[in-house]
Amino acid sequence: MNTDMKKKMSAPHVTRHSVRASAIIRSDQIHRYMDHGRDFIQDDLIWEKIHKQKNPDPVRIRDIIQKSLTIQTLNPDETAALLNVKDKDLWQEMRGAAIEVKKRVYDNRVVTFAPLYCSNLCINNCLYCGFRSENKAVQRRMLTQAEVRRETEVLAGEIGHKRLIVVYGEHPKTGLDYMIETIRTIYDVKVKTYKGTGNIRRVNVNAAPLSIDDLVRLNGSGLGTYQVFQETYHHETYRKLHPVNTVKGNYAWRLYSLHRAQEAGVDDVATGVLFGLYDWRFELMGLLYHARDLEQKMGVGPHTVSFPRLEAAINTPFIDKTPYRVSDEDYKKILTVIRLSIPYAGMIITARETPEIIREMIPMCTQRDASSRIGVGAYSDPYEKQEAHRQQFILGDTRSLDEVIRELAQMGYITSFCTAGYRCGRTGKRIMDLLRSGREGQFCKLNAVLTFREWLDDFASEETKKAGETVIQKEMEEIKNRCPSVYSKAICRKLDSYYDLIKKGDRDLYF
Ligand code: SAM
Ligand code: SF4
Repeated sequence: MNTDMKKKMSAPHVTRHSVRASAIIRSDQIHRYMDHGRDFIQDDLIWEKIHKQKNPDPVRIRDIIQKSLTIQTLNPDETAALLNVKDKDLWQEMRGAAIEVKKRVYDNRVVTFAPLYCSNLCINNCLYCGFRSENKAVQRRMLTQAEVRRETEVLAGEIGHKRLIVVYGEHPKTGLDYMIETIRTIYDVKVKTYKGTGNIRRVNVNAAPLSIDDLVRLNGSGLGTYQVFQETYHHETYRKLHPVNTVKGNYAWRLYSLHRAQEAGVDDVATGVLFGLYDWRFELMGLLYHARDLEQKMGVGPHTVSFPRLEAAINTPFIDKTPYRVSDEDYKKILTVIRLSIPYAGMIITARETPEIIREMIPMCTQRDASSRIGVGAYSDPYEKQEAHRQQFILGDTRSLDEVIRELAQMGYITSFCTAGYRCGRTGKRIMDLLRSGREGQFCKLNAVLTFREWLDDFASEETKKAGETVIQKEMEEIKNRCPSVYSKAICRKLDSYYDLIKKGDRDLYF
């Protein structure tokens, strides 16, 4: 190491990380997606559009709603008009349309999943996060492969999950090789259940931005969706919250992480905002610009959108200081505008929210987590489960998957554990085209019935089974009523035979 480098390394907070940042970040893998050296978020232009659309005419709003109902992505002026609506009744109309959009694209299905925190080691120092490197109140831990296996056994064998989102801090010890190993370990777990076998069929990843080469490797490990939240789209706020000497301090490296993923062959990419860092109206516009840029440059927009709100975290004073915390009322508006602006995208509401909010907003969402624990190792180690010093933040809905599924069934929703689309190549652009046309839903409806039956037989309490069976019966009737106009007689016969086989203990049969 030369003297300059040594000097840099001894400066406070800086160098170990900044050296690493320059080793990780590939500027050619940022600039290739930019337009004349600019990224697609122009802060002034966004504010100009928001201000220009003040007091929108209700007639225009209704026209925009009609466009959403044809499952077309809105343009920035249209989204800006929606978020400027003041009239309560018009918001109710928008809510009704948002629910209708969800129904047209995804019917009455809700997908459930659980987060699996593999490590809270992190070299970054995001001011709002309990895992930030300077937070000494958090105990650091990364799971060994044996521990990943134990966690998965609980998730797949006791709770009954089929999908996970695996979460990592950013750290050399939990880099690409570790991620790939954990994904393989998870897929490898098979647990005997009451009537069949439990296993995880889709592993999604929430991790730091990676290079294209690394993403190619990650994709090869059986990756489901690759999820990176931009946190805030506002350049200046981003700069303030992510120290410049950290890897995460590079806004554009993060902004184009999903473009890189798509270039690397990852079909399903997921974006999100951490609401509470900056003005929610600006962030909504940022999400829309992101979706449109992915559509325009990479041919397909985000598979899902997430919209977590900032939550309290241990020893994290920033959270009490931010002036941008989002009220429940504004949060509901945010979800409504996302649903109408990017109508094809899945929308993920999480257990960070309270049961009341989730109940109210689930009709326009497609996915939620349940039985979630966000401490590292918290599923298999009961001592861990409520401990704030290993958690990233505090959850709002700690109900079990069984309770959640029962409530959903009582509300008329079928919980789908289907992961077939991905395994039949119905991903990326293909799934987007199918979703827009409503055709993907035909397969999904059948697979939802089959996978829900599996789950009810393997994991449900008696009460939940009863509620679930009422929903299955209704679904079966709807399918039969669409036979042979939508479903051929052969498909209906196959459904009956698969259903009977599943009842006898066969697993993972799908269309
Ligand atoms: N380290 C990776 C990264 O930052 O992208 C992935 C893991 S990080 C734990 C996952 C997400 O947690 C972040 O993208 C951020 O949006 C969210 N998060 C961080 N602090 C939070 C807080 N206090 N409340 C709610 N969500 C938070
Ligand atoms: Fe690390 Fe991610 Fe938390 Fe930032 S948000 S401190 S990168 S774990």
